[in-house]
Amino acid sequence: MKVASNLPGEFELIARYFAPLARGFPGAYGLLDDAAVIAPAPGHELVAKTDAIVGGVHFLLDDPPDLIARKALRVNLSDLAAKGAVPRAYLLDIMLPKTLTESWIAGFARGLAQDQDEYRVHLIGGDTDSTPGPVSIAIAAFGEVPTGRMLRRSRARAGDTVFVTGTIGDSALGIEVLRNALPDVGAVAATFLVERYRLPRPRVALGPRLVGLANAAIDISDGLVADLRHVCEVSELAAVVEASRVPLSAAACGVLAARPGYLAAVLTGGDDYEILFTAPPAAAEDLGRLSRTLDVPITPIGRMKTPSSATEDRVTVLDGNGRAMVLGRGGWAHF
Ligand code: ADP
Ligand code: MG
Repeated sequence: MKVASNLPGEFELIARYFAPLARGFPGAYGLLDDAAVIAPAPGHELVAKTDAIVGGVHFLLDDPPDLIARKALRVNLSDLAAKGAVPRAYLLDIMLPKTLTESWIAGFARGLAQDQDEYRVHLIGGDTDSTPGPVSIAIAAFGEVPTGRMLRRSRARAGDTVFVTGTIGDSALGIEVLRNALPDVGAVAATFLVERYRLPRPRVALGPRLVGLANAAIDISDGLVADLRHVCEVSELAAVVEASRVPLSAAACGVLAARPGYLAAVLTGGDDYEILFTAPPAAAEDLGRLSRTLDVPITPIGRMKTPSSATEDRVTVLDGNGRAMVLGRGGWAHF
């Protein structure tokens, strides 16, 4: 609607920076209509997800605008991937403070363009407003899955193996590096960990290939333990994880060798944007092949079981000696 004074007007901003991102998607009508049209392929349905990020809460106000844009898009693509959906399009609501410059918006749009190419999605609409607060961005993303096949949190079965993609805990350790809490980490490892925090790598190619193999899936954003607990709760099951099997990057291994106490941060830290899924043990061979084809590590870390009592914590993490670890509230919560 109304935009800040030292920027070009709303329609000029849209025409200059956002309309080019809608090219190639006929149903976006060049961002010249009130709304867009998305037609899923025959036999498919749309999966929808929105995620907002707020300056000073989810990113620092002096972070590069292209990185902010890419993170805003990628956290949504990660949810779609965990649901088995192929991303198609997204809507962008952006709240701009008066202090923002046009070059910031140009950088932001450049970041979106880069990731649109990488993930084959298009901007198809949105809203542009001014705000007295910090810059805020809400993206709503749409992907498609074969009808009825969206991967659900609730479909885990007792006896399923619990798998995770990639490596866990890098982002949580990246935040510690930014806080100067890990001064003895080498430069290469420090850069790697911070990069993992700044720019998630959503498993866009893998997610849709899990349809038909996985029983349940979730994207790891709150932390491995908290997100596995979400799966347990809605599947009405419990899970046992062996900490020693949780896949770690070389950088994270280095941190834990010097400071074993950071294992809790790795297991509960969040912002991993990997996929946690459960599958019958018989799927292991197919998953191994998929992992090699797509060059995405897929690691078994535990199994699903029926809960032994109503009061037990649904997620048990065993340490190297087979003893249950105490991990506090097990994840990041806003409130
Ligand atoms: P309305 O007046 O109905 O709110 P707008 O004038 O805000 O509509 O938007 C005009 C067109 O520009 C619409 O197609 C809308 O989807 C698109 N649009 C507005 N802001 C953005 C944005 N930040 N990113 C992408 N498209 C946008
Ligand atoms: Mg509007």
